[in-house]
Amino acid sequence: MFGRVPKKSDNSNLVILQFKELSQAYEVLSDPEKREIYDQYGEDALKEGMGGGGSSSGNPFDIFEQFFGGGFGGGGSSRTRKKQGEDVKQVLKVSLEDVYNGTTRKLSLSRNVLCKKCKGKGSKTGASSRCYRCQGSGMRVTTRQIAPGMIQQMQHVCSECRGSGESINERDRCQQCKGKKVTQEKKVLEVDVEKGMQNGQKIVFEGQADEAPDTVTGDIVFVLQLKEHPKFNRKQDDLYLEHNISLTEAICGFRFVLTHLDGRQLLIKTNPGEVIKPDQYKGINDEGMPQWQRPFMKGKLVIHFNVVFPETGVLSPEKCKIIKTLLPLSTSSSDMASDDPEETILHDVNMEEEMRRKEFQKRQEAYDDDDEEDDDDAGMPRVGCNQQ
Ligand SMILES: [Zn+2]
Ligand SMILES: [Zn+2]
Repeated sequence: MFGRVPKKSDNSNLVILQFKELSQAYEVLSDPEKREIYDQYGEDALKEGMGGGGSSSGNPFDIFEQFFGGGFGGGGSSRTRKKQGEDVKQVLKVSLEDVYNGTTRKLSLSRNVLCKKCKGKGSKTGASSRCYRCQGSGMRVTTRQIAPGMIQQMQHVCSECRGSGESINERDRCQQCKGKKVTQEKKVLEVDVEKGMQNGQKIVFEGQADEAPDTVTGDIVFVLQLKEHPKFNRKQDDLYLEHNISLTEAICGFRFVLTHLDGRQLLIKTNPGEVIKPDQYKGINDEGMPQWQRPFMKGKLVIHFNVVFPETGVLSPEKCKIIKTLLPLSTSSSDMASDDPEETILHDVNMEEEMRRKEFQKRQEAYDDDDEEDDDDAGMPRVGCNQQ
């Protein structure tokens, strides 16, 4: 029976804390002025300001503060200006499926939080004195003679107070955090990767980074990194797909089934009589990426067609004869010459090779030119020598 009591009260505390955090977050967000105070001076400053201003505004944590005697968590009525804590940045790799369908990632992390027992004071009474070893500076300077008349100065963090500059009486020291003011907390963050989010987009958990005394807690920032997809290529809200079709399909039409990013199967087919030309693009509306925050609006799915022609030798002269009867003969280039034209033979040209050879040739010529110039400069005395 005795054991159940604290557990129960812990739970109710938790609920209240969440409620408090929520209402406070709402207040802060809805008021740009408060938002600025919060950003600059932190929660305590905001509480002070609000306590004076509108305590009758139905502000829920006024009531809680009456109950619990001045709030929890915040602890101090310190008017000292708070430092800005560092943000924690983390890359979050996501697949195209993730940003098409939306997903939630659970990430566990461990972070520093202000000690619950001493509320970040490090002691029971909150009293502290200046560290005797560093005189409150948090740093210590040691000198060392490295050579006669030469002294090296070294500055390092005071080991007595770990850089805080204050010392807490051994007896007064908080047993929970051993005077460090913070404890480690394991936390699971649920990161909502929303439909349509872009590469490089940030998901921010405000004030969730490491807590420290008199410090405005920084944010945890996830930066999305979109992984390459083997099939689809995303350009803003459109999806691009490379697709090979045979020459027969290009001329006579085709149908194929495409599995989309959400597993739906789409039947993609040409209209009757339609011919697809090499390098042609065709689009399907509303089958691209969902727009961020308007996921019912979708971009296009664009298919780039690559027509695969039959290899040399596949079609016999007999087959060609049949095709010729079916397909119109293109005649633009075959104007019949009246007299005897010269016979020629077509051969393969590897354009890449050709370009490379040209590039090499150009460089070779440039090099030769340089050589000649060098010869001109250096040649004079040599000519003189020869003449002797
Ligand atoms: Zn403590
Ligand atoms: Zn010290």
